[in-house]
Amino acid sequence: MLVTASQLVSQDAEMIWHPFTQHGLEQTTIPIARAKDASLFTYDNHEIIDCISSWWTITHGHNQPDINQAIYNQLSDLSHVMFAGFTHKPAIDLAQRLLSLNHNLFSKVFFADNGSTAIEIALKLSYQYHYNLGFPDKKVFLHFEGGYHGDTFGAMSTGRTSGFYEPFEPFFCQTVSIPFPTIEDDIEKTIKSEEKALAVLELVLETYKEKIACMILEPLLQGAIGMRLCRAEFIDKLVGRLKENKILTIFDEVATGFGRLGKMFAHEFCTQKPDILCLSKGLTGGYMPLSATLVNQEIYDAFLGNHYKNAFTHGHSFTANPLACSAAVASIDLFQTHQTFDRIAHIQTTYQEIIPEFKYHSLLTNFRTIGTMLAWDIVSKDAHYKTKEAEKIKDNLLKAGYNMRPLGKTFYLLPPYCIHGLSVHLRKILSFFD
Ligand code: PMP
Repeated sequence: MLVTASQLVSQDAEMIWHPFTQHGLEQTTIPIARAKDASLFTYDNHEIIDCISSWWTITHGHNQPDINQAIYNQLSDLSHVMFAGFTHKPAIDLAQRLLSLNHNLFSKVFFADNGSTAIEIALKLSYQYHYNLGFPDKKVFLHFEGGYHGDTFGAMSTGRTSGFYEPFEPFFCQTVSIPFPTIEDDIEKTIKSEEKALAVLELVLETYKEKIACMILEPLLQGAIGMRLCRAEFIDKLVGRLKENKILTIFDEVATGFGRLGKMFAHEFCTQKPDILCLSKGLTGGYMPLSATLVNQEIYDAFLGNHYKNAFTHGHSFTANPLACSAAVASIDLFQTHQTFDRIAHIQTTYQEIIPEFKYHSLLTNFRTIGTMLAWDIVSKDAHYKTKEAEKIKDNLLKAGYNMRPLGKTFYLLPPYCIHGLSVHLRKILSFFD
């Protein structure tokens, strides 16, 4: 029996609790029937351009033939097997690609199934690394002010300044935050705030040096707090100091990985490299839940021994799911076979052409872009996270066929790399800010 879109809406409202949603306030959900490339389609065939790649996951596009085929092929062989004591070719093929894409900076891949979990694993590994080496007091996690790393407890603790987690404060791990020196129009100002952040780091090192396990950070781009950028030169100085103090560095590239910032990984902009790298979202081209936490040999070695108590006793039922791994292998291969970086470069060029037009707009401010990300803020006196102005613009854009989801006063684009007619879309989007 066929169901109608309105039946789905009411069945959804009856049974489903959606993420990051205040059901006391928000409108009903929109049933999506199908998707292709950069477009979502409703049951009555209304097209919605997925300007933010469905929470930054979709890289090559929805319903991409090569990724579809890889999943179909894998489906007829093996859809799932537990990953303790067993292995499979899709996981091995993927691990090989991930290690070589990262120029063998890392030597082991720990799979799981979402971004928060990749982070949780990285934090737990950092702590247990020191614990196994005989330093159980190293349990403070450093993080950036405004950082966001997901919604599990370790991730929330290191994202505590994001403003989303007040009720959970009593449960947080010990953390200390370092200011995030946002890039300003004036380079002198930027350098001053970088110096200030590094001075705070020095104070933190003096106070907590013997107690710090690691620092976790979103390299170059802080996403959820409102698409804030910092310079690679600053990250290099910071990571250099962390390394001098034997503090592990975790790069959370859950959002920035797989071409988002114009290179395969954000750490490619930096000369100092992390000890641990967390990947998810674009790992499977945005198709399936999968994550990878990559570590260097030194970390792995600290877990070896003839006691089970040294081992990393952590795992998930769907760790390294073969369907997800085969989607990820196909997605990574597309970067070469479909000249994906040319598509990314085209998006970057289009942004550069259009930004001057946006800048004439007196109600829009603070334009920033890196790779496939373009963001701006609306001028508003409303101090709430969800301002009425931003919500109204979002709703109007949605009616006109654009899926954009502001982060407070920040609107941004992070489209699938296959998007067509970007300059036309951008000009149309701009008209909703009049
Ligand atoms: N880290 C970053 C930088 C993120 O942006 C996100 C999700 N937006 C996460 C971690 C958490 O990922 P997930 O939603 O898959 O748990």
